[in-house]
Amino acid sequence: MIKCTICCSNFKITTDDEVYYCIQCDHYQYFGNDKLEIFDHPKLSKSLDSLRKKQSEKIVNKLKSLYPSLDNLTAIEVGAGKGYLIKEVKKVITKCYALDMDITYKNELEDYGIKFKQGNLDDENNFKNIDIVLGSHVFEHLINPNKFLTDIDTYDIKFLILFIPNSKGWIFSFGKALNKLGISLLWKRLFQKNSNSPHYHYFSEKSLTKIAEKNNFKVVASLNLNMVNYIPNFKRVTATEPLIISIVSSVVLSFLELMNKVFKVSDSKVYYLKRINE
Ligand SMILES: [Zn+2]
Repeated sequence: MIKCTICCSNFKITTDDEVYYCIQCDHYQYFGNDKLEIFDHPKLSKSLDSLRKKQSEKIVNKLKSLYPSLDNLTAIEVGAGKGYLIKEVKKVITKCYALDMDITYKNELEDYGIKFKQGNLDDENNFKNIDIVLGSHVFEHLINPNKFLTDIDTYDIKFLILFIPNSKGWIFSFGKALNKLGISLLWKRLFQKNSNSPHYHYFSEKSLTKIAEKNNFKVVASLNLNMVNYIPNFKRVTATEPLIISIVSSVVLSFLELMNKVFKVSDSKVYYLKRINE
């Protein structure tokens, strides 16, 4: 029997034989094979530009309201990519770093006064003398998220901000229902199957809180964020799907996002964590 990575309870099987579910901590985990197809191509990133910027502003505004005196701290965004989040953080924190394996955006980030470190999360040295670690859509891509939390617990990290997908939204629920009916397109997309970097984990508030506490962090606040725009974004889906599917799914996704707003739930969520003994 496979055990849950978060709470070690026995997993339950789901309709999808690559995805397991833990009742105890309300957590989904994907056990698919790594594929070589690159998913995050430039066309997709471009269509998400304005959404990512808006999300980053909201994340940093909340951070400011939680901790008004941030200026003297040092922050790092891990798996930064274009660094939407760290660029916004730079407006309130002087010393900022971006960590990424890929150096594509190195110069752009340095123009913002953000220091660039090339590397991955396994290199613990990147967390020396850092106060705040931020990760936007990174944590769910780690096969073993415990390792990352244990590593940063070794250093004197005060705050951790994680922006991750959430299994409590309408889009996830709809994808799950369709998959039960044999239509797996949205479900596969939610886990980013067939990509070189799938979502290994789909967290709930319960499972995120559990993994945080196991690693000496506690959740002090959270923020619901949109996964898609309320106005259908055809460009986003055409980047990965054929035209007719993309038109229909854009409209459906935006409708589901509106339902999230009405019911005050969300398909992606930001968690603000603080070290327990701080
Ligand atoms: Zn569990």
